Amino acid sequence: MDILPSQKSPLISLFRPLYRSGRGAYRKIRALKNRILNGFDPPVVILIYHRVTALQSDPEMIAVTPGNFRRHMEYLKQHWPILRLEEEWPDMRERAVVVTFDDGYADNVLEALPILEEVGVPATFFVSTGHIGTGKEFWWHQLEDILLREGEFPPRFTLNDARHGRIWDTATLQQRKETYASLCLLMRKVGPDRQADWLNQLRNWAGPLNVEQSIHRSMTREELKRLAASPWTTIGAHTVTHSALSALTEEQQRNEIFMSRQTLGKITGTEPATFSYPFGRKKEYDRTSVRLCREAGFMRAASNFPGQVHRWTCPFQLPRHLVRDWDLETFAAEMKGFWTR
Ligand SMILES: [Zn+2]
Repeated sequence: MDILPSQKSPLISLFRPLYRSGRGAYRKIRALKNRILNGFDPPVVILIYHRVTALQSDPEMIAVTPGNFRRHMEYLKQHWPILRLEEEWPDMRERAVVVTFDDGYADNVLEALPILEEVGVPATFFVSTGHIGTGKEFWWHQLEDILLREGEFPPRFTLNDARHGRIWDTATLQQRKETYASLCLLMRKVGPDRQADWLNQLRNWAGPLNVEQSIHRSMTREELKRLAASPWTTIGAHTVTHSALSALTEEQQRNEIFMSRQTLGKITGTEPATFSYPFGRKKEYDRTSVRLCREAGFMRAASNFPGQVHRWTCPFQLPRHLVRDWDLETFAAEMKGFWTR
């Protein structure tokens, strides 16, 4: 996942008009530069999806409805060649698109796969192995279950942590939404042990939860095998615990990268050739992560920041464009921007 609750720097508020015009100029120059580069070398644009399903609440904005997803796929199919991420790409004389999914949600198999097969679009699914078959939700959904449900809450939550400890007001839903956004940002900066500890503190604070069958679950082993068996899909690795690699020691990073590759190989019968960095922005992985991905034997690794892939782009930091739950008109307009943004 890649949630990005907006972080308002006081400096930005103060200099907003200047910042805006500077940012606008930067974007124009960047688009112009990219248009020129595209003239030399038609690019590949890689898209990221996370979930295909209809959710009542989606604070991370990572779910696309099946109807919109089908329209996106049909639109892509009509307009550009769709490549596979793990193929040797031909010397492209025209623009092309790649479709990827991150995380390994069950809805990828249940709702996205039938549409990909029907429309005839290949896609790569980056799966975090630690959640496969456990029924356990990723931490951001656990946070959501605890903080954003209806009910009575204590007026304050105190996080006990030597470095990130803090107190939040939590009496109203609005305050809990702010607590949720703020904790999401903090959780991305720490490893799995601390995440588990913080979630325990929250559970103890909030009292018992009515946990029904999770709508946010990852796929089971059987579902993963079914996904991998389709001629339209390939499986890529996305670590074990879905932690930002830059928050981990080299040894922990090595485990996350190598173990996820091995486990996926054992379940599907084929060791994945591609990898994507959890969260995927430049501060969420580091040089060690890139080196370890090479050592593990991956041929490409995908990041999560906008851009186009050219012949000269580093194959271990491929830019990708995030797709939201857009109707066809918005998707077409966004796709237009993706070639130069
Ligand atoms: Zn992810």
